Amino acid sequence: MRIVVIGGGVGCARFVLGLREHVARTGGRDSIEVIVNTGDDWWVSGLRISPDHDSLLYALAGVNDIERGWGRAGESERVSAELATWGTAPDWFTLGDLDLGTHIARTAWLRGGATVSDVYARLGSRWNLGATLHPATDDEVDTHVETPEGWIHFQEWWVRHRSQLPARRFSQNDIDQARPSDGAREALENADLIVLAPSNPVVSIGPVLAVPGMRELVRGSAAPVVGVSGIIDGSVVRGMADACLTAIGVETSARAVAEHYGARDAGGLLDGWLVDESDARSVGPLASQGIRAHAVPLWMRDPDSSAQVARDALDLARSLG
Ligand code: GDP
Ligand code: CA
Repeated sequence: MRIVVIGGGVGCARFVLGLREHVARTGGRDSIEVIVNTGDDWWVSGLRISPDHDSLLYALAGVNDIERGWGRAGESERVSAELATWGTAPDWFTLGDLDLGTHIARTAWLRGGATVSDVYARLGSRWNLGATLHPATDDEVDTHVETPEGWIHFQEWWVRHRSQLPARRFSQNDIDQARPSDGAREALENADLIVLAPSNPVVSIGPVLAVPGMRELVRGSAAPVVGVSGIIDGSVVRGMADACLTAIGVETSARAVAEHYGARDAGGLLDGWLVDESDARSVGPLASQGIRAHAVPLWMRDPDSSAQVARDALDLARSLG
């Protein structure tokens, strides 16, 4: 079975690690592909940074910093301190030295004419990831945020302002001219199952779906489309998705996020939706809107609990017939 996951960074990585574990435990015949958000990408000190891709890459390679939740394990920050002293990098955005190696390689390849998809393939070939990563698009579609002080890059809003500056709306630069990467298109056209990861619905999944043609590829797939809620009992498990949801007028709840994606029968994307046990009351109302929901434990704390979430997503898809 060809399983295609759409997602962002850390929440997506936790789910994909669980999926990889589940696939390995059940004979290893299924393949995993991830269509990765590129809206978080930006330029710093002349380098192209791709946070969501790198979170996935490092987590799947087992070289990520688990304590901190981002970047490489065993990092030093000597280069970043120098860049800040030179004034070429903002002092609120620190990059580790090993991580900078990735950004230098990526930028060198891009400057040499490689596409973002080529860069993903080269970076991914270093380790046995057990999953293939595709950028949502090869075009540059950095997310910007409209605040009372004007439009700023998503990273400035997220990291510098800790999402505390009121956000009016989110938009991706030149999104109208973007198109899905060949890898993303091919994966969606041939998927046996499509999963919306428990990623930030607004700034991780949103920019992927905003690429013209992407929603149609998901909606037009013969495969079931199921999603996993990143919201548990009215709160984000990690990160600041609540600030993003509030900005687009969506309540921070598992049910409201499912309604935001919408039922495929009603012009939306979802056939099925996994909510946490604590959100079981949303199962009935969602069913009446054409979304089959199951309530299961959604905390992904370790390989076992993450593999169980993946297994529950596959079971839900199977139950859709
Ligand atoms: P980011 O780009 O690194 O912020 O990562 P994502 O967008 O992929 O994921 C962020 C989302 O992951 C947040 O909305 C969290 O609520 C969600 N998340 C993180 N850990 C868990 C977990 O253990 N279970 C569930 N259900 N969601 C999680
Ligand atoms: Ca992200």
